[in-house]
Amino acid sequence: MNSNTDQKNKLQTTKILENNEISPGVYVLKFKKIKEFKAGQYVGLTTDLSVTPRLYTIASGINQDEVHILYNLKDDGWLTPRLSEIKPGTELFVTDPEGDFIDDQSPAWWIASGTGIAPFSSMFRSGLKKDKLLIHGGRFAHSFYFEKEFLPELGDNYIRCCSQESGEGLYSGRLTRYLQETSELPKDCRFFLCGSPEMVIEVRDLLILRGVEYNKIVAEIYF
Ligand SMILES: Cc1cc2nc3c(=O)[nH]c(=O)nc-3n(C[C@H](O)[C@H](O)[C@H](O)COP(=O)(O)OP(=O)(O)OC[C@H]3O[C@@H](n4cnc5c(N)ncnc54)[C@H](O)[C@@H]3O)c2cc1C
Repeated sequence: MNSNTDQKNKLQTTKILENNEISPGVYVLKFKKIKEFKAGQYVGLTTDLSVTPRLYTIASGINQDEVHILYNLKDDGWLTPRLSEIKPGTELFVTDPEGDFIDDQSPAWWIASGTGIAPFSSMFRSGLKKDKLLIHGGRFAHSFYFEKEFLPELGDNYIRCCSQESGEGLYSGRLTRYLQETSELPKDCRFFLCGSPEMVIEVRDLLILRGVEYNKIVAEIYF
């Protein structure tokens, strides 16, 4: 059996329900849920069976009928320029959900850059809210995807760190600076990091330097 046939056997077909640009270059793709998943897991997606699926963390909650994917357009990438043009009704190939970036009810800090907010959105929409501090880093005031959902429920436990603009309710500066300025980091708490390799590595190093135990840090890197 060749690799295309292997891949074909692992992929299931679903139909796009919606695909909306929610912020410049950032989209939410919706399709019907075909497999149960745990909040924090990802799926592989492709529009062409001969092309390796790219991985995307599910942003919707476990009890929703639709799967939501938050993605940003990479102009020079293969899949995202195609995804950004995709119309409702089009077929999409999806792998089974996988991954162990999974939280529980215990206290945690959720730290995300850009579309790295997706797993935390899924956790939040699946009912995890208590004892969570969500820190999201983005460049612009429009980079805080799903803020309308987070703000009313998380209140002061939702920090938006904006590096290139200032705005009401926004912390001016990168999330790493916010963490450096935080006088004390909690001891009995896990730190979940998700987003670009640069952010995850920088925050991991910063936390370890500040005395956080290595086994309290859980990371998901979008590479
Ligand atoms: C676990 C996981 C979860 C993820 N979740 C999300 C998510 O929720 N949302 C999201 O937006 N992204 C997510 N990603 C990233 C996502 O999988 C894709 O990498 C991203 O969307 C780009 O896909 P693409 O096909 O458009 O670009 P690709 O074709 O994969 O290219 C990506 C970049 O690499 C460069 N590149 C490609 N080939 C080469 C080469 N041969 N040499 C040098 N450079 C090259 C391209 O120019 C481009 O800038 C996740 C990644 C992982 C690992």
